[in-house]
Amino acid sequence: MSLYIRMVSHVGMQQDYCVFCEKVIKEREGFFIYEDDTVISFMDHAPVEAGHVLIAPKKHFVNVFDIDDEVFLNIQMIAKIMASAVLKATQADGINIGQNNGPCANQRVMHYHLHIIPRFCGSHINWERKAMSDKDMEAISRKISVELLDLL
Ligand SMILES: [Zn+2]
Repeated sequence: MSLYIRMVSHVGMQQDYCVFCEKVIKEREGFFIYEDDTVISFMDHAPVEAGHVLIAPKKHFVNVFDIDDEVFLNIQMIAKIMASAVLKATQADGINIGQNNGPCANQRVMHYHLHIIPRFCGSHINWERKAMSDKDMEAISRKISVELLDLL
């Protein structure tokens, strides 16, 4: 099921509901790693590997086709540092940096976000989501935060 749903407001106009804008950025639900004026980073709630981090703009942009250049570049700079932090924190052998644009490209949340995914030699590469407990999620997010602080 897509996390991006359309709602009809009381005045009958369609409004877009964005789970990142509402739950993550406004209500602060999740495990957070990094934040500055334009960018926020947090754990993917359904990771493909433990340590799967997302980086997103605080302002709503749908994907690469509408994001501001300056915000886009800031996200890429953070991604470069975050990749090292995730690599160290998870003791991974490699990192995937990925970003999907459009439903047919497997974009599920229609708010620009970039994935940082740790990968391990001998593990089959796939995109299946794993369930993780809040306790484990908090533990890995703390490890990544500590490594990131060292690099910033
Ligand atoms: Zn949004």
